[in-house]
Amino acid sequence: MARHGGRGWHGRVIAAAVGVTAVAAAASVWTAQAGQSGGASPAAPTQHAAPRTVSVSPVIAHASDGGAHAVNITIDDGPDPVWTPQVLQVLRENGVKATFCMIGPQAQAHPDLVRQVVAAGHRLCDHTVSHDTTMDKKSEAYQSQQILDAEQQITKASGGIRPMYYRAPGGAFTPYSRELAASHGMRPLGWNVDSKDFERPGTDAIVATVRRELSNGPTLLFHDAGGDRSQTVAALRTLLPWLKQQGYSFGFPVR
Ligand SMILES: [Zn+2]
Repeated sequence: MARHGGRGWHGRVIAAAVGVTAVAAAASVWTAQAGQSGGASPAAPTQHAAPRTVSVSPVIAHASDGGAHAVNITIDDGPDPVWTPQVLQVLRENGVKATFCMIGPQAQAHPDLVRQVVAAGHRLCDHTVSHDTTMDKKSEAYQSQQILDAEQQITKASGGIRPMYYRAPGGAFTPYSRELAASHGMRPLGWNVDSKDFERPGTDAIVATVRRELSNGPTLLFHDAGGDRSQTVAALRTLLPWLKQQGYSFGFPVR
């Protein structure tokens, strides 16, 4: 979509996702560090007029609150009036709850969809205002605007339900952005398996990628916007029953 700078941002998402794999590998170190420090003292978080939130860990989350044999379905870049309802239907048919990482202005434009997501028991995630995958190279003021404006837009659209996670576009987290999001009650959220659905490789390829890479970890990445997502919908229709057959349950990312 033009708001995202055309097709260019897609390539950067892929490139950044490769970087996130490295981030995931380093996450265990960060977890150990956070365990020692308690994730305390994010550099003097700014006080805002928004309702009080409980600060969460600034460490990028990958684990599931559903335990060792649960997966987290995460759906990025929406909401979208064509594709979000179809994704919601597949999730409903399979009794699966997911986490929706939303773009602030799209949430603002489609509050009905945001409320449907919340009403169905899914969770919200802040995916910034502009989906700038180079935001880790930008000023702290810019990062703050991208995260906090989207938080407000999503919360207003939802009718007051706050996003519980923050996912940087393309995984472009910084220590500053993680601490800022965490101080607003939004756990930084990574992923373990990129379904590559954004590239539209065909439904079978999306399904095969998820099956092949599932051993990487429980948090799976899909998209419900940014173009024709019919392959994503079809892949979920195959994957969700398959995951159940394999003995997996469905959870939310840890906070
Ligand atoms: Zn995204």
